[in-house]
This record gives sequence, structure tokens and C-alpha cells, in this order.
Amino acid sequence: MKMRAKLFAILSAFVLTALILLWGFQVLMLDTFFYQITKNRMTSAAVQIEALYTVDDANFAQNVYATALNNEFCISVFGPDGRLVTTADVGGGCIIHVVDDKTLNELYQKAVASGGEYFHRAGLTGFQGNEEKSSPFAFRYNVRDRILYVSVKDTADGALIMLFDAAISPVNMIKGVLILQLFIVSMILLIVAGLMANALSKNLSQPIADVNRAAKKLTQGEYDVQFTGESYREIYELSDTLNKTAQDLKRTDQMQKELIANISHDLRTPLTLITGYCEMMRDMEGENTPENMQVVLDETARLSSLVSDLIDLSKYQSGAQKMETESVDLDFLILETVERYRKLMVGKEYTFVYESVGPTFVTCDKKRILQVIYNLTNNAINYAGEDKTVILRLTVTESGRKRVEVIDHGEGIAKEDLPLIFDRYYKVDKVHKRAVTGTGLGLSIVKGILEAHGAAYGVESELGKGSTFWFEL
Ligand code: ADP
Repeated sequence: MKMRAKLFAILSAFVLTALILLWGFQVLMLDTFFYQITKNRMTSAAVQIEALYTVDDANFAQNVYATALNNEFCISVFGPDGRLVTTADVGGGCIIHVVDDKTLNELYQKAVASGGEYFHRAGLTGFQGNEEKSSPFAFRYNVRDRILYVSVKDTADGALIMLFDAAISPVNMIKGVLILQLFIVSMILLIVAGLMANALSKNLSQPIADVNRAAKKLTQGEYDVQFTGESYREIYELSDTLNKTAQDLKRTDQMQKELIANISHDLRTPLTLITGYCEMMRDMEGENTPENMQVVLDETARLSSLVSDLIDLSKYQSGAQKMETESVDLDFLILETVERYRKLMVGKEYTFVYESVGPTFVTCDKKRILQVIYNLTNNAINYAGEDKTVILRLTVTESGRKRVEVIDHGEGIAKEDLPLIFDRYYKVDKVHKRAVTGTGLGLSIVKGILEAHGAAYGVESELGKGSTFWFEL
């Protein structure tokens, strides 16, 4: 269901409920209210008139007339002997002024029989209290739409009979007015509900529609879309999230493209070299030398290291390989590594220094931590300075963590590059120094392994002075 239709339905339901309540009270209950109020006024007028009769005989007729006028009903008062004392006629259609003796007697009897009071409501359905359908009035005088009340009070002189008579007809008139008014109000409210539903739905659905439109663009690969959520905080927050998602997608997309470009480049260069050298050795005499063959071998090794780095990285990143942790003596592990490098680099004038605090045990995945140490050491060798010195250091921090540092005195890393070098395929200055640079994946593998261990890691570096790569287990 469209938002507008739903809102209209809800608002209309609300308006209709309010109207039904109004109708119920104003129109249907009006009779009851009016009748009850008139009844109350008639009974209290009867009490007043009785008091006037006994106390103030002189102005009695005048006072009765005033009472009748105030209350808008007619009154006739009969004395104990059945003689008319006074009658006040303040409206048309009253029948109590022309009551004959027989009727009066009957009414008197009825009132006395029911404790001094007798009500009759003529012209309306339903009777209450001691009313009855067959009122002497109603029959004899064909009374309609009136409330009649007979009150018999015992005074010192004997019984005082009072007749009251009020029209109900105003109720019908008021009812008509009310019905018309309510009808107009209903129509106006329904129109207002429609307008409100329209405005509200526009207000509510427009931003959602906008966000939706932008999201569709996003699915089509347009990462530069801008989600502008206005009007509501929820939509604003949604837009914010989507904007961030769009940025993330854009970055991932860019990184992926870069990664593929870099990998293809790095694969193509050795391949071109290998092909070139092989063709040369095949076609040209005297070129089939061990030196040329060595170039082919070096490039093949380069290719295979790139491929294995890629495989490692994808394994760490997908979490496909489970960690196999054990208690490892870091001291021994580093010592072994340093020895291996010393043998490997013999004759290349590298100095490997190892500073240690002695046997230091940690729980870790031995193979992977070894790979971290290898990667960091390889970098230190690649970027070593004039002194060709690589220092490995094992310490224990104040908090008891085992800290490994790999230090070189080489070119160092610029401040703006520091936060990025652990990113996949990031290479400082991006110029291919094929003699030194590796695959550009070494540090992202380090990052993957150390993060899997929950280890802290980082680098401190100063341009021209060297770098210290560290991690703590
Ligand atoms: P690479 O295989 O290119 O060395 P890495 O991921 O290991 O890739 O390193 C990323 C980049 O960080 C390197 O290209 C280099 O610019 C920089 N870097 C890494 N180690 C050092 C170091 N010890 N000294 C200076 N720069 C370094």
C-alpha cells in the first residue's frame, strides 16, 4: 500500500471516530439530556412554587409567572378545592391551561398513587420512571412533543396541584442544526485529512524515494553518488551510512583495480625478461652463458615468490588457514633466523646484530611468526643503509609483552607514508626500483598475521636515519 493511501486511511479513521463520538453525544443523547434537565427544572420549580404559596400569598401569581418565564415552561396551579389559583402561559401549544375537571382529577389520582409526582413525555418513544403511554393528557388532547409534569404537594390548607408543560420541539430543531453542522464539519475534516495525508506522505516518502534513487545508482557502480537525507534524523543517519558505504565501495574498487594493475605489471616484467633472454640464448651464438641463465633463474624465482606471496595473503585474509598455536621460544627462533641469514648473505658484507634478553616464551603460530620475522628482516636488508647493518632486538615490556624490533639505518620512510605501508601493495613513491623492491605484499602479510594474533605492531622511522619495525606478543 502506498504511504499516502495508508496515511489517508489512518487519518480518516481517526476523524471518523471523533465524529461518531460527537454524533453519539450531541445528536442521539440530546433527547435524553434535554429531558433530564427539563425534568430537574420542573421538580425544583415545584418546590419553589410550594414555598411561594405558603409564604408570599400576595404576589403569588406574579412569582409563578416569573418562574415560568425563566424556565420556559407553562405552569398551572390548582388549590385544594380544585379551583385554578393561577396559570402562566409563556409559550404556544400548552394544553395545561384548558384542563377539564375530569382530567385534573385523574392526574391528581395518578400523582398521588405514585408518591406525589407524575411525568409524561409525549411524542417520544420510550418512557421512563412512572410515565406511561396512556396519559389522560395525551389521549384527550392529542398531545405531541411535550413533557408534562404533575406535582401534588400537601400544604397546611390541603393539597396543592401544579401542572407543568414544556415543549420538546426545540430539541428537534437543535438536532437538525447539529446534524447539518456535523455533516459540514465531517466533510471539512475529511478534506483536511486528505490534504494532510498528501502533505505528510510527501514529506515522509520523498526523502526515502531520493535515497532509493541514489542507491540504485550505487548498485550500477556509480560510486560518486551523494545521499542527501533531510527532514528526519533516521533518514539522515541512513544517508550517512550509505555515503560511507559508497566511499568504502569506491576505495575497494580502486584498490582492486590497482592491485590487478600492479600484479599484472609485476608478472609481465619478469616474463618479458625471461622470454627475451631465452630467445637471445636460442638465436645468438655465444649467449648461452651461465650469467644469462642466472637472470632467467632469478626472474623465475621472483615470479614464484610473487605468486606465493599472493597465495599467502589471500589465505590470511580469507581466514582459510587455521592458526596452530604452541609455546614458542622467541629467542631461539630469532637466533636461528639470524644464523640462517648470516650464512645466506656470506660475502655480501651485511652485519646482523641480535640483542636478546634470553629465552622468552610466547604462545603463537610458529610458522607465521617466523614469516613475520623473515618479511621484516628482508625489508631491512633491502632498505639497509650504508652500514649494511640489520639489528634484531628482543625485549620484554613493562606490561610483560614480548617485543621484537627489526632495525635498519637506511633511507627511512616519510611521515605521510607511515600509515599506509602496511596496506596491500603499497610501495613508497611507487617507482619500481627493481633491484631492491619486493612484491609490495610483505607488510600486508605481516599485518594479517599479527592481527590474527591480536598483537600490537608498528613502525618508527625517520627519513635518512632508518626504520624500526616492531611487534609485541
Ligand atoms: P616490498 O615487497 O615492496 O618491500 P612491503 O609490503 O614489504 O613491500 O613494504 C611496503 C613498502 O614499505 C615498501 O615498498 C617500502 O617502500 C616500505 N618499506 C618497508 N620496509 C622498509 C624499511 N625497512 N625501510 C624503508 N622503507 C620500507
